[in-house]
Amino acid sequence: MLIVLLGPPGAGKGTYAKKLEEALGIPHISTGDLLRLEVASKTELGKKIEKTLTNGELVSDEIMADYIEKILKENPNGVILDGYPRNMKQAKKLDELSLKLKINLDYVINCDIDDEVIIERLKNRVVCPTCGRVYNLISSPPKRDKVCDNDGTPLVHREDDNEDVVRHRLEIYRKNYSEILNYYRNRPGFLTVNTDGEIDAVFKSILERINWSGTSQEEK
Ligand SMILES: [Zn+2]
Repeated sequence: MLIVLLGPPGAGKGTYAKKLEEALGIPHISTGDLLRLEVASKTELGKKIEKTLTNGELVSDEIMADYIEKILKENPNGVILDGYPRNMKQAKKLDELSLKLKINLDYVINCDIDDEVIIERLKNRVVCPTCGRVYNLISSPPKRDKVCDNDGTPLVHREDDNEDVVRHRLEIYRKNYSEILNYYRNRPGFLTVNTDGEIDAVFKSILERINWSGTSQEEK
């Protein structure tokens, strides 16, 4: 099973991907988080892409293609992709890989939200540097003040969450957005979800729309 989450940075893809991971039992792959981790641990790839990420630009299609292929091979049961594809070349590459590796692209979930709501939201976004969990200080705060629920690590603002970088990222995203959406729009597993709402309610509607009937541990 392969699920692609689309939507501008800050639309809540990470939040819903984590929830889907818990509900469906397949890993959430945030390419952005993984690439930042490569930079932080100064791997060969990390050194290559450091400047690109700092400038809020996107890593090249060739590097991404190799990276995604490696991830899909490591996870034959499928993954929830968050941050890939970001342009048409990547979308076509993903179809190629899905065919080659026999991992069906079941759902494309389009998280739709207004740019200004995103910018407001990112001002309150903090992330755990240890496990990558994302919090919003207003809509999904940690249980204890500014430390991660999972591991107690102090939460931080991402450096690339400042307003200028965000507006630049949104611009890049919108430029490629309509074309990719059109590419996926007529597929049976395509759905658009407005994520400007209460998280549990939004997530419930996602599960309903992907016809998920499995049992979750979470109480409702
Ligand atoms: Zn954590």
